[in-house]
Amino acid sequence: MKMERVDKELAELRHTFRSGKTRSLAWRETQLKALLDLVHDHQETLFDALHHDLGKHPVESFRDEIGVVKKSATHSLAHLKNWMKPRTGSIPLIFFPASGKIVSEPFGVVLIIGSWNFPISLVLDPLIGAISAGNTVLVKPSELAPLCSSFLLNTIPNYLDPTAIKVVEGGVETSQHLLNQKWDKIFFTGSKAVGRIVLAAAAQHLTPVTLELGGKCPAIVDLTSISSHYDTRIVAKRIVGGKWGPCSGQACIGVDYLLVEEKHAQFLIDLLKKYIRRFYGEHPKESNSICRIVNRRNFERVQRLLKDPAVSASIVAGGFIDEERQFIDPTILLNPPLDSELMTEEIFGPLLPIITLNDIGESIEFINSGPKPLTIYPFTKDEKLKKMIVSETSSGGVTFNDTMVQFLCDSLPFGGVGESGLGRYHGKYSFDTFSHEKAVMERGFYPELEPRYPPWNSFKLKF
Ligand code: NAD
Repeated sequence: MKMERVDKELAELRHTFRSGKTRSLAWRETQLKALLDLVHDHQETLFDALHHDLGKHPVESFRDEIGVVKKSATHSLAHLKNWMKPRTGSIPLIFFPASGKIVSEPFGVVLIIGSWNFPISLVLDPLIGAISAGNTVLVKPSELAPLCSSFLLNTIPNYLDPTAIKVVEGGVETSQHLLNQKWDKIFFTGSKAVGRIVLAAAAQHLTPVTLELGGKCPAIVDLTSISSHYDTRIVAKRIVGGKWGPCSGQACIGVDYLLVEEKHAQFLIDLLKKYIRRFYGEHPKESNSICRIVNRRNFERVQRLLKDPAVSASIVAGGFIDEERQFIDPTILLNPPLDSELMTEEIFGPLLPIITLNDIGESIEFINSGPKPLTIYPFTKDEKLKKMIVSETSSGGVTFNDTMVQFLCDSLPFGGVGESGLGRYHGKYSFDTFSHEKAVMERGFYPELEPRYPPWNSFKLKF
């Protein structure tokens, strides 16, 4: 029955797209304004849902979810008219008289599949791009944030055009059924493993995909070049904020591990401990400023990472586990084995390994020995090192001297490369991600160059 409903919804989306109504600027703007109204009117309900599903504090929920949606929709509304204008493409003189333009057209019917860690922004942010580009959309939020998912199911039809934007709830079975259908574009946020499933399913219909995946985002901490008392404190705050601040380490762009010179390791650990205490108190379990681990399965997965005796022996801070409340302290580990699961898999939890190097320049080789990260966070004032990191490593992005903030910059493309993802979005990049750029060329009838036609002869080769 449920799958029959999905098929009916999809048929209606296709019908609506064919009607052409989603193509007008007016329709797109109305939907974006309605989305702004939705998050404005239901801010408190959203705070409750995010707290219920993940233990997010309203400040964190505003920063990472509601605020992100407001920012993106407002940005799109301000620029949409310009983005939609055809661009001129210059044509070689030999074709004169001729003109060329690039027209952005919507793909058609789009599927957006979201993850649970930012269950509102990571479906509504791509939705803003899909609407801006004039598509009809089916959204499948993550079943692991159930209140957020049912909020979207129940609220979106009251604000957005229900014939063009639909929400379907469900888990793996629903996702797989959706992936078996023909879409004009799939936008997926989630794990590498499921990313592969999505890509394989899309291949059946040659559907273009954007994959926003994860990986291990390293922070390079070059304390040799940052020595002032004040600056080293900023480094520590930004690392603690970028590790435990967004969803308690359950974030694709959260800091996964640190690279630091051996001689600075203890100093850095002491500073990090200081700010963990300052942000989350002596007993982080009691803090209302740190999220909980989403569910039992993930709790056990993170706990398993610590089970390896060589890994648990490397704990230098935290390590407390509350089985009943599924809570794990902000935990720092010094030089855990590099072949342990902790160092080979994305951690996606509140554990922070620190790997020491003799020279910070070795961090480049260290990063290049693994899959391409989504982001690299180098903290350094050394211009030579900065240049080397940008030119000698590959990652979705590099943010110097801070963490996470790149996600909020609509002028920068956001996305991974290699195993951390395929494609990018945010700002105009979102519009482009959900559009096909159609090349439109027009020629006059004269002059006509006869040498372009057979029969061929040596004179035509010279021409
Ligand atoms: P996930 O891949 O388990 O699930 C994502 C979505 O896929 C969910 O909606 C789920 O219902 C669906 N799904 C799960 N199993 C499926 C299957 N077998 N077939 C089809 N669909 C299936 O990911 P998650 O646990 O929700 O999120 C965590 C992962 O997402 C991490 O790896 C993280 O790095 C990544 N992530 C990336 C970004 C980004 O912007 N790059 C943002 C958030 C999370």
